[in-house]
Amino acid sequence: MELCIIGSGYVGLVTGACFAEVGHHVICVDNDQRKVDMLQRGEIPIFEPGLEDLVQRNVAAKRLRFTNSIEDGVDNSQIVFIAVPTPPQVDGSVDLTYIERVAREIAGVLKPGQYRVIVDKSTVPVKTGEKVQATIQRYNQNAELDVISNPEFLREGCAIPDLMRPDRIVIGSSSQRATDLMKRVYEPFQVPILVTDVNSAELIKHAANSFLSLKISYINAVSAICEASGADVEMVADGIGMDRRIGRNFLNAGLGYGGSCFPKDVKAFIAIADELGAPFQLLKEVERINAGQLDRFLKKVREALWVLREKRITVWGLTFKPDTDDVRNSVAIDLINKLVAEGAHVTAYDPKGMEKAREYSLIPTSVKLAATAVEAAEGAEALILATEWKEFASQDFAKVKAVMHTPQVFDGRNLFNPKTMREMGFAYHGVGRA
Ligand code: NAD
Repeated sequence: MELCIIGSGYVGLVTGACFAEVGHHVICVDNDQRKVDMLQRGEIPIFEPGLEDLVQRNVAAKRLRFTNSIEDGVDNSQIVFIAVPTPPQVDGSVDLTYIERVAREIAGVLKPGQYRVIVDKSTVPVKTGEKVQATIQRYNQNAELDVISNPEFLREGCAIPDLMRPDRIVIGSSSQRATDLMKRVYEPFQVPILVTDVNSAELIKHAANSFLSLKISYINAVSAICEASGADVEMVADGIGMDRRIGRNFLNAGLGYGGSCFPKDVKAFIAIADELGAPFQLLKEVERINAGQLDRFLKKVREALWVLREKRITVWGLTFKPDTDDVRNSVAIDLINKLVAEGAHVTAYDPKGMEKAREYSLIPTSVKLAATAVEAAEGAEALILATEWKEFASQDFAKVKAVMHTPQVFDGRNLFNPKTMREMGFAYHGVGRA
């Protein structure tokens, strides 16, 4: 099929490449000329495992191309996916500026007799589809289209497997014609498809991300009880998670959830519920627990180091999760900023996130960035693990200990084995376990 994706970021680019991989012809549109130039040169602006190969293979096979022209994309495709940002506003509600602009841009280029399915893949509040449809028709009375919702559930770091083998595809549509076309798009993936109305599909995405955030906050609240009682949150999580009704995923105690999706989607769902007159207090508690997790952790660091001013502290990890270069809303970044605000001298290392953290000025210039994990630990009075990259688990800890000034480890993601670390001579502090 001929497909167009507007917005070539984490979602749009990976979706476009996966659609091309299964045989569709895909045009990826972006209004960031620098990004389009890079993609046309075969360079990938983001890090996502396997993406470079996938893009290059499909460009070479002439199934994938990049442009800054919405007209080119809309003219040459049966289906137009929208994958532009939906950032939060100050009050937590969703800023729909990007979506509204794309709706007007599509209206400006749709020609009479060109039936198009417009698919909202961005995460949007319930009822956005109705507004996109009305906007396009307001700016182009001859437009022939159906607007449907097809929320994306991929996780950065494993976006390609998530897209190629998703648990389910949700299609929110009120048009049989549009639904049939969408089913053809997903036919090669051979995965379960749930067809709903547009509003339900939009709501599924916010409800799903809020539920996953709730699971994380739940185990984090349990971790505080474990610390107070001497129980081990990892064992408790295993015991809960072996129950198939609950499942072990998303029961990892740590510094709390971050990233470009969970914090904004929980906030958005709270705002949506408030606006609809059905306040969702439970989610406010989810946010409160999440915010408190970093403070509780920092308290532990202070208890061990007494005063943070002038202490040399190493932070391993900058990205919001492993296997990505995405540092947006990363708890690791918040942690570093709090340490610096208290006068600590921070050196950090991350396998993929250092360039973006500097580029977007997310960390103070006083923070040193090291070339390796061991180099970052040189002279440190404390080492904090903030992101659970596999690379950190497989370090030579004899070497790490030898270069540190005082061997104290604060494991913000419970990545290391406490017994092994202590046997090696580290003072070890995890989350929710002794
Ligand atoms: P992103 O910032 O990585 O990419 C968005 C892209 O859209 C950028 O390249 C930007 O230049 C482009 N863009 C903006 N306005 C445009 C316009 N008018 N025309 C053409 N291009 C335009 O964002 P993302 O992380 O891919 O997220 C996109 C949407 O998907 C958001 O709603 C997000 O909540 C949702 N989502 C994200 C993830 C994730 O893990 N990142 C997962 C599921 C859903």
